[in-house]
Amino acid sequence: MGFIDKKTRLQIFESINQIARKNYACLVSTEFINRDSPLIFKCLRCGTQFNDKWGCIKSRKNENLKCPNCNPQKTKEDYYSELKSIVESKLLSRNSNYCS
Ligand SMILES: [Zn+2]
Repeated sequence: MGFIDKKTRLQIFESINQIARKNYACLVSTEFINRDSPLIFKCLRCGTQFNDKWGCIKSRKNENLKCPNCNPQKTKEDYYSELKSIVESKLLSRNSNYCS
């Protein structure tokens, strides 16, 4: 770990570029520094810019890169609060029907 020579950095930069293209994104950052430095990507579907790290990308299955806007990572809590708001809005509309 530590020092990465320029040739290796260029090779990794090129692989990041390929992974970005495969995932409908383009790499905005102009150089690869190290696996822990944030890289900037832009989603080609919605135009959202997002950060990712080479160390994280590599650790994922299929070296996937995902736009947080097109592929939001939902947690269990998000799911329940979404469900709750749907149920509440249904209850509210039912109540308003009762009133009218
Ligand atoms: Zn997107």
